[in-house]
Amino acid sequence: MSSTTNGAQPLLRAVGLSKHFPLESGLLARLRGAGARTIKAVEAVSLDVYAGQTLAIVGESGSGKSTLGRLLLRLMQPTTGQVLYQGENIFSMKRARLRAFRRQAQIILQDPYGSLNPRMRVGRIIREPLDIYRESTPAERDKRVDELLERVGLNSAQARAYPSELSGGQRQRVGIAAALALSPQIIIADEPTSSLDVSVQAQTLNLLAELQQDFNLTYIFITHDLGVVQHFSDRVAVMYLGKIVEEAPTDALFAAPQHPYTQVLFSAIPLPDPSRRVNWDLPKGEPPSPLDPPSGCHFHPRCPKVMTECSAIVPELEETAPGQRVACLLYGDGEN
Ligand code: SF4
Repeated sequence: MSSTTNGAQPLLRAVGLSKHFPLESGLLARLRGAGARTIKAVEAVSLDVYAGQTLAIVGESGSGKSTLGRLLLRLMQPTTGQVLYQGENIFSMKRARLRAFRRQAQIILQDPYGSLNPRMRVGRIIREPLDIYRESTPAERDKRVDELLERVGLNSAQARAYPSELSGGQRQRVGIAAALALSPQIIIADEPTSSLDVSVQAQTLNLLAELQQDFNLTYIFITHDLGVVQHFSDRVAVMYLGKIVEEAPTDALFAAPQHPYTQVLFSAIPLPDPSRRVNWDLPKGEPPSPLDPPSGCHFHPRCPKVMTECSAIVPELEETAPGQRVACLLYGDGEN
């Protein structure tokens, strides 16, 4: 487990979290028993998220980062492991506690058009969480919708619009307003700007930064955009084929990435311009399938520093510097 921040306890903590998707069911799965084929989308992930901070989870497509985000909100059940919110396992919460957790933990999705109900007017979309939680009186809910619209840079007249009548950036602001409606503590933002134009991306990120400041929000940013990570996050967890291979404070990671995968990724970032995008094409081709991951270190077929033992030994995530953890056989036992 990573070290705490100034002795603070994490607001959210994943402990040994795994999610395997079975590829076979029924008789075939029973016949194969323990040998039934699965995709290990998330494997033994442990990490801490601190109040008021931003944790970025980065990785290529298929790294498991979005599945991890959904597990952290209990939007799906894990195969093994726990998620502790203020010390309580969210997967053991009964109805009333779960309802309280759900209002504290919200999500903003990548595609604001796909995630907003096209048949609902904007005002109703933002008001819906308040209605579900029967928050205050109907008149106060209407007032809250107006406040939220204003806070995200829209106006009250736009409450009557349908999502299709708004621009992409405005739709994302509606998604942000709906996520804010219940005054949550934690927001998971899954590629929140990747479907937006570059200029609109910057405006949206600035808005999210202001909201974090104003409401002491805790963000978990799921992204493949390392420019956004550098600009926005306090800590970074790098995922590869379902596992965290490196986790560190953002400054330390950008100054001296330690895992060979992180080093290759970060070598492609043009610093310090956060508007530039990383090239995710690694030297040795596409990532292997999570259905049939390589033995030992999953990164070994693509690793520029591969050693003979790397195909046989699974590296553990170990602390290499205060707050920095790396899963690589180059580190530990004096090797480096
Ligand atoms: Fe590369 Fe070996 Fe380290 Fe894996 S364990 S990242 S293959 S050096």
